[in-house]
Amino acid sequence: MYLKELQLKNFRNYNEANITFSPAVNVLIGENAQGKTNLLEAIYVLAMASSHRTAKDKELIGFNQQYAQLKGEIIRRLGPLTLELELSKKGKKVKVNHIERAKLSEYIGQLNVILFAPEDLALVKGAPAERRRFIDMEFSQIDGLYLHDLSQYRTVLRQRNKYLKDLQLQKTKDQLYLDVLSEQLASLGGKIIVKRLEYLQELESYARILHAEITQKKETLTLSYEAPLRDATTKTAMQLSNELLQKMNDIRKKEIFQGTTLIGPHRDDIKFFINDNNVQIYGSQGQQRTAALSIKLAEIEVMKEQTGEYPILLLDDVLSELDGNRQTHLLKTIQDKVQTFLTTPGLNDIARQLIKEPKIFNIHAGE
Ligand code: ATP
Ligand code: MG
Repeated sequence: MYLKELQLKNFRNYNEANITFSPAVNVLIGENAQGKTNLLEAIYVLAMASSHRTAKDKELIGFNQQYAQLKGEIIRRLGPLTLELELSKKGKKVKVNHIERAKLSEYIGQLNVILFAPEDLALVKGAPAERRRFIDMEFSQIDGLYLHDLSQYRTVLRQRNKYLKDLQLQKTKDQLYLDVLSEQLASLGGKIIVKRLEYLQELESYARILHAEITQKKETLTLSYEAPLRDATTKTAMQLSNELLQKMNDIRKKEIFQGTTLIGPHRDDIKFFINDNNVQIYGSQGQQRTAALSIKLAEIEVMKEQTGEYPILLLDDVLSELDGNRQTHLLKTIQDKVQTFLTTPGLNDIARQLIKEPKIFNIHAGE
């Protein structure tokens, strides 16, 4: 798929923009603070109905404006698609092919994007929350049911945490309602974990190949899902739910004491291994970056596998963060198959050699 046209109104520092993109590589060149990342962010927001940079939609609206509008014309294998999003104080309104959708889950996943920013190079070493977010964002685009379960899980988790706080502060003594919430949470949790395991397995199968290529077969990359559950990979969602519930009941006193839910997919993590050594602990910075790059590139393939089409790729300032060998791998992988948007202060020799007929946009002060 590719994004053919993008219209922006009052989005960050773009008052009014109407841009036609190349289905291949689009290069956004400009000095600092001109709007390169803002434009990538706009594409991300068009796809995901939320930003990767902020949870506050208000920040996306141009200074002194009441609303922001984004509209994209997308070409997919199945035909053209129009996505529209309006952000205002009242919240967000989304339209798919000119028809308003009440649920975001009917909107997200129509345009598939993968974003790769310098922060992602820290995926391996960063906090567990970033790795969970990474799986959730990518997988939600592929699987609408996953997105649905995840948002329900978050709602029930909030309710349960609040109730645990009430029990902790002895505002209530009734544990019956906690039972109900525990059951709901465990049931959703099992479904989420089963899907994450499936997704990671697929991601690993591609990442392993890519990582071996980048390291000239010197390194083998493996991933593992870390949850306090036994042999999770061999279990069904139902079995995992039962086990979660059992564990929740076992640690109930502790959860009430701490006033929060201590087990479930919101606490899980992913571990990365190179030749059987944990990269988070033993990996060099270069190894961690290569692992992160392999995983990002693997995501592109997984999305293709799952949706039948390549997603679009947003690369924010990453070329300058990678050495020549990794840049070459990245650019060769996307060549001729993935529509790419790449921000940079200027193209280096490797990029000039490898990117065929880039469409170049010079960005200055939101224009
Ligand atoms: P760099 O090369 O430093 O990453 P960039 O071109 O990627 O720069 P952006 O992050 O796209 O820069 O744009 C930053 C500019 O956008 C800043 O000058 C900032 O003041 C402006 N900006 C951010 N949010 C808004 C907003 N809501 N309304 C208007 N302008 C905004
Ligand atoms: Mg930027």
